[in-house]
Amino acid sequence: MRLSRYFLPVTKEPPADAQVASHKLMLRAGLVRQTSAGIYAWLPLGHRVLKKIESIVREEQDRAGAVEMLMPTIQSAEYWRDTGRYEAYGPEMLRIEDRQGRDLLYGPTNEDMITALFRDGAKSYRDLPRMLYHIQWKFRDEIRPRFGVMRGREFLMKDAYSFDLDEAGGRISYNKQFVAYLRTFKRMGLRAIPMQADTGPIGGDLSHEFIILADSGESEVFFHKNWEQDRSYDVDVEDTAALQGFVDSMTADYAATDEKRDEEREAELGDTLLKSRGIEVGHIFFFGDKYTKALGMQVSGPGGDMITPLMGSYGVGVSRLVGAIIEASHDDNGIVWPEPVAPYKVGLINMRADDEACVATSDDLYAKLEAAGVEVLYDDRDERGGAKFATMDLIGLPWQLVIGPRGIKNGVVELTNRATGEREELSAESALEKLV
Ligand code: ATP
Ligand code: MG
Repeated sequence: MRLSRYFLPVTKEPPADAQVASHKLMLRAGLVRQTSAGIYAWLPLGHRVLKKIESIVREEQDRAGAVEMLMPTIQSAEYWRDTGRYEAYGPEMLRIEDRQGRDLLYGPTNEDMITALFRDGAKSYRDLPRMLYHIQWKFRDEIRPRFGVMRGREFLMKDAYSFDLDEAGGRISYNKQFVAYLRTFKRMGLRAIPMQADTGPIGGDLSHEFIILADSGESEVFFHKNWEQDRSYDVDVEDTAALQGFVDSMTADYAATDEKRDEEREAELGDTLLKSRGIEVGHIFFFGDKYTKALGMQVSGPGGDMITPLMGSYGVGVSRLVGAIIEASHDDNGIVWPEPVAPYKVGLINMRADDEACVATSDDLYAKLEAAGVEVLYDDRDERGGAKFATMDLIGLPWQLVIGPRGIKNGVVELTNRATGEREELSAESALEKLV
């Protein structure tokens, strides 16, 4: 993409109301614009990041055996009346009346609707187990939208739902999602720690919040220092015993949010106990027959008996992740995108748009990168070199490839790694080889 044809409204100064680094940088780097309180337009560069995150989430859901579908944002209140949640949900739900006087709402989540849909289509034990998911916008009329997209009112969520015949099956589905979550966040360059979370009136220990550490996080979290080490999340999720063993090993080291602290265990930990602030990027939850019972969902068992399926639900904050990743990865000059979620891999800078040789070399490299399928943003504008560098640093693409008149004379271009700052001069051919 040529920057001269793009829409990248970068600014020097962030608006005064942005408090945390990610919010400031997202506005300054032209990723989003707020259009109403807690509601954002995703500008081209931000949209690309959102799509990258969405793809990683999708790949790991598919890998876990979940099946993608798409439910609407606007829901009939009937689904919620049937589960008793319409009155219970409170003012976070955006309620809408259509011209016929029918009650609609902008979905804050989808348990009620998915249960009704699955109930109407699944009749036999052979239809289970199943995991279904969608990636769809949600609306919650948060009392205090803040921190940019991290606590918005409209936000993109991946929500998955599992249906099983018994508790053992429910645990397997839960464990598969548990692994998918660890893998998903790791692929984005994040270390997310699973922390036991409240299960509410249903009880049990099957609820975890996945929290990444960041000073600006809204929750206070406590964890064993083993969580600072890198971990491998490779396990055959179809091998039930291996899967359970893996999840047990991942929950062995203490990790708890403020609400779930265990004073006895913490006392034992001594100085291996660490404290930080954290951002919730995902939440998984097994809640049994709460919705299937309320909605009268049953399937026939092998002997003709009727079984009420057990459910879990599994959310990832896709749009929140854009902010969370920036919180975890930025410096004084701007964003530092981990490569898997970067909007483009390479920022190609022509230092002199009025110099024929620079233009020719830059155009040639641009064409070759594009032809090789490398995602490249080409700053071909007639601007000062300093401003171009500042913009590239701010938007944080992993590689900066710089073409200038002095280098051209010596037959070299300059390649800089945004994360490490390492810079080298090399021939255009070698640069291409490195980037392709
Ligand atoms: P929180 O405790 O942060 O309010 P929640 O527990 O209400 O979140 P869930 O219902 O568990 O949220 O939703 C699943 C995921 O959706 C959360 O883990 C989070 O990543 C994301 N999410 C929830 N609320 C918002 C929001 N207002 N803006 C952006 N993302 C959100
Ligand atoms: Mg939650």
